[in-house]
Amino acid sequence: VNEFELIARLTQHLPTNEGVVVGAGDDCAVLHAYDPDCYLLLKTDAVVEGVHFNRDAVPEQIGHKALGRCLSDVAAMAGTPRDAVVTLGLPAAFEASWAERLYEGLNALARRYSVAIVGGETVQSPDRCFLSVAVLGSVLKDKCILRSGARAGDALFLTGELGGSLASKHLTFEPRVREAHWLAEHFALHAMIDLSDGLASDLRHILEASKVGAEVLASALPISHAARLRAKTGASKKSPLLAALTDGEDFELLFTSAPGNAVRLLDTWKQQFPHTRLTCIGKVTPGPGVVLKTKEGVQPLSAHGYVHFS
Ligand SMILES: [Mg+2]
Repeated sequence: VNEFELIARLTQHLPTNEGVVVGAGDDCAVLHAYDPDCYLLLKTDAVVEGVHFNRDAVPEQIGHKALGRCLSDVAAMAGTPRDAVVTLGLPAAFEASWAERLYEGLNALARRYSVAIVGGETVQSPDRCFLSVAVLGSVLKDKCILRSGARAGDALFLTGELGGSLASKHLTFEPRVREAHWLAEHFALHAMIDLSDGLASDLRHILEASKVGAEVLASALPISHAARLRAKTGASKKSPLLAALTDGEDFELLFTSAPGNAVRLLDTWKQQFPHTRLTCIGKVTPGPGVVLKTKEGVQPLSAHGYVHFS
């Protein structure tokens, strides 16, 4: 098929929503302006063959991951994703059905969150496929959660489990959009980020933006089954704890809130999201720096992990 035939196929069943005046097919998408009480959120992200996925990956899952990464970032602001545009780079020799399956994964995730796909571009790419997604979202001005609001004394919370994602869920993770909304609606969150590079690395973004430090409790970290299994079978040389701290692609939410909220937060979360863990993993300190508290004592935690006591 030629490019125009492919575009016709890919744009045939794109998800839409009530905010779309003109979707894919004109020179630009035309969207209704949002509520004046909202900020707009804009985010782009790309996945590249050989870096974020392999050619033998399930194409639907590649589409899912590319959009999911952007939705996870919108979730980290407690926002609502609204619209997306997609750029697909394809080598000359490719199967049109592969691109169609990729779009099926993209569309399915978009539909679940009422995200309209309102346009994009297919482009020839010399030897590798890539997929770039840009997402427009909105958030009520008084509910927008930045990285910069953490305060010394805050409790540090984490959704889900950490580690081993590349061997398990990185192509199928569910962005925490609903969870973030619920959190922002019911609790005063001070700072939030989604974990893409690993806890030890992403935590520092909150701390640097907020000019504070943190103490992380090693025994509290929710380590995934995949991370434990990989350590046990020798598939990974990292200990489960190190995997939880430094493996990337978790796409969980890390946030801070006043310590007085902790009990009610953990209790009501359990009722609201019985299948997803929420864990208090430590606290924000005046800083500077991050320390990891283990049975052996307290040691500095770098972006790459920690040094074992000898
Ligand atoms: Mg992010």
